[in-house]
Amino acid sequence: MDQPADAPVAPAAADFIREIAADDLRTGKHGGRVHTRFPPEPNGYLHIGHAKSICLNFGVAAEFGGLCNLRYDDTNPAKEDVEYVEAIEEDVRWLGFAWGDRTFYASDYFEALYRYAEQLIRDGKAYVDSLSADDIRRNRGTLTEPGRNSPYRERSVEDNLDLFGRMRAGEFPDGTHVLRARIDMASPNINMRDPTLYRIRHAAHHRTGDAWCIYPTYDYAHPISDALEGITHSLCTLEFEDHRPLYDWVIEHTRPPARPRQIEFARLNLNYTVMSKRKLLALVEQKLVHGWDDPRMPTIAGLRRRGCTPEAIRDFCARIGVAKKENVVDVALLEHTVREDLNRRARRALAVLRPLRIVIENYPEGREEHVQAVNNPEDPAAGTRLLPFSRELCIERDDFMESPPKKFFRLSPGVEVRLRYAYILKCERVVKDASGVVTELRCTYDPGSLSGPTATRRVKGTIHWVSAARARGAEVRLYDRLFRSPDPGEGGRDPLSDLNPDSLDRLSGCLIEPALADAEPGARFQFERLGYFCVDPDSRPGAPVFNRTVTLKDTWARIAQRAG
Ligand code: ATP
Ligand code: MG
Repeated sequence: MDQPADAPVAPAAADFIREIAADDLRTGKHGGRVHTRFPPEPNGYLHIGHAKSICLNFGVAAEFGGLCNLRYDDTNPAKEDVEYVEAIEEDVRWLGFAWGDRTFYASDYFEALYRYAEQLIRDGKAYVDSLSADDIRRNRGTLTEPGRNSPYRERSVEDNLDLFGRMRAGEFPDGTHVLRARIDMASPNINMRDPTLYRIRHAAHHRTGDAWCIYPTYDYAHPISDALEGITHSLCTLEFEDHRPLYDWVIEHTRPPARPRQIEFARLNLNYTVMSKRKLLALVEQKLVHGWDDPRMPTIAGLRRRGCTPEAIRDFCARIGVAKKENVVDVALLEHTVREDLNRRARRALAVLRPLRIVIENYPEGREEHVQAVNNPEDPAAGTRLLPFSRELCIERDDFMESPPKKFFRLSPGVEVRLRYAYILKCERVVKDASGVVTELRCTYDPGSLSGPTATRRVKGTIHWVSAARARGAEVRLYDRLFRSPDPGEGGRDPLSDLNPDSLDRLSGCLIEPALADAEPGARFQFERLGYFCVDPDSRPGAPVFNRTVTLKDTWARIAQRAG
């Protein structure tokens, strides 16, 4: 097994696919083996929906002592690219899965696929059709009407072999001929009405270059690729359910060395999210986001940059489970899972996003002391650290109101709050500039309220702060949902017309505790009262950039509680 130690080998909850695999092992079907594959098309970056498929395929293999291959379904040269191949490998590995030397490409099977197609022709099971794509579509019929046979359906084996060979040799332009399976134009399943197996496409392929100008369709290439790799359980999403008869037809009539079985499960849908690679590509190409790894994207690369851990994503996939029925998962569940994970692992820190200066008038000028702060209340081993405290501090502008409403348990004139890990503070006076904007608060503190006689004195609110002299500057990027409505493509609407204009808020001039200024990209923190943050790769020495991964407000916990 090449499962790395940190991957979840604890079995996920039983589901219908795991039941099938267990049954097949018991009855000795597939020679007592379980062998799965994850088959991405390298035409975009992987997203959280793919993570569900990755966790399922690699998870089932690991739990049943089997193997899982990584196979690129690279049969469409027009949209595919090596950039995507590399990104896919990085993402699967980052999620915690390994596939040894079992990287495969459908394009490696082009020659074998061609030979199987010739065999189908010889067996009278495939023919070259010379109708235009439009005519083929017109002849296909509808759900209620049967299709019509093509006039080319009765071509002789010799003619078909000759034409197919000349298609391969490049004698014909795109769209002039296709190779079709000869099944049944009256089949109630439209996928079985002589589906196309090969198209002419004079396009260079990212791996095979100009060696081919005919390319197999997914429905033809996929079952044979599975069989050639000895795949036992070919797991795919529900939209392929109606293609299963064709999958089985291809296996039956090409007679490859093994008989894989296709099993469908419901794809992951998330509200407020689009998962179609075509739409994600449009977001990138139209520069509506800053690339595939923009932290607002539902891509694995985006989630990683946002600060999610692979453990949280795997945990999310385990929680949503695998079933046969389509549903929409609340994105709040993903956020909840990420929050729970970061709560366990993230060090706490103090940071002020929109600073307001305060001067503690009764604190001696020139004095500096250090107060002790807990690094992670969830993890005693994480220990404590010292924060510099002095006469001039910065607090969050939002934590002060000159005329507060009731229940505003933060700072206002004449009111006391506790400074986190430090003293009780009272606002005495407000300083404003000529236009009436508050520029500074003059305060006093209770000197006995840290370790003295009033240390346990309680006041209503606690706020965070940093030392004005010692804090370091940072840029902080706050994210909101990329789309405004729960179902961005609802009713055939273009989801790109539903973008949330406030999905990114870049704040410069934030202040962080001094120790954070040199944190490495990827490091994760909880900024107390503000959320979980991680260091962005855009950071430069002395100029850190933080992404907010999630806020602390857990809407999922509330929903779950209400549901009882
Ligand atoms: P798109 O239609 O957006 O291009 P795709 O499904 O064609 O996506 P592939 O690269 O072909 O993308 O997908 C690789 C594997 O991941 C397939 O087995 C597919 O079924 C699975 N997959 C894709 N999207 C989801 C999803 N939302 N939930 C679960 N599995 C998915
Ligand atoms: Mg696909």
